[in-house]
Amino acid sequence: HDEEASARAAATEANTGAPTIFDKIISKEIPSTIIYEDEKVLAFRDVNPQAPVHVLVIPKLRDGLTELGKAEPRHEDILGHLLHASKIVAEKEGIVDGFRVVINSGASACQSVYHLHLHVLGGRQMKWPPG
Ligand code: IMP
Repeated sequence: HDEEASARAAATEANTGAPTIFDKIISKEIPSTIIYEDEKVLAFRDVNPQAPVHVLVIPKLRDGLTELGKAEPRHEDILGHLLHASKIVAEKEGIVDGFRVVINSGASACQSVYHLHLHVLGGRQMKWPPG
């Protein structure tokens, strides 16, 4: 499909390791609706929500984690921290009884921002399999 091919092409082009829009969200240069924040992670509403609740959870320090597929042993702690923060977000948003956490890694998954992020989705009946 054309749409899939162009999403994949955009995702390939975006994967440069350069700073991303999330740096400006972390520095608060770009405003966001923050749901949760601690010293290591920031969680804010996705600007293009795919569900009534759609929050992104990101490490404040990218440290080479452009995508999950680039994770190294040194990232274990932050990866666990991000997952736990996703649960805190689900609790805060009132969806802890049923929610989904998604990580798109790489062009085939249509990742568009190359700063690792977890999508926390819920507030509606989710379908399986995802697209
Ligand atoms: P990906 O496709 O898994 O890389 O997800 C990137 C997500 O970032 C998408 O769901 C976008 O809607 C979201 N996004 C991009 N720019 C912004 C922004 O400025 N604020 C909040 N979310 C954003």
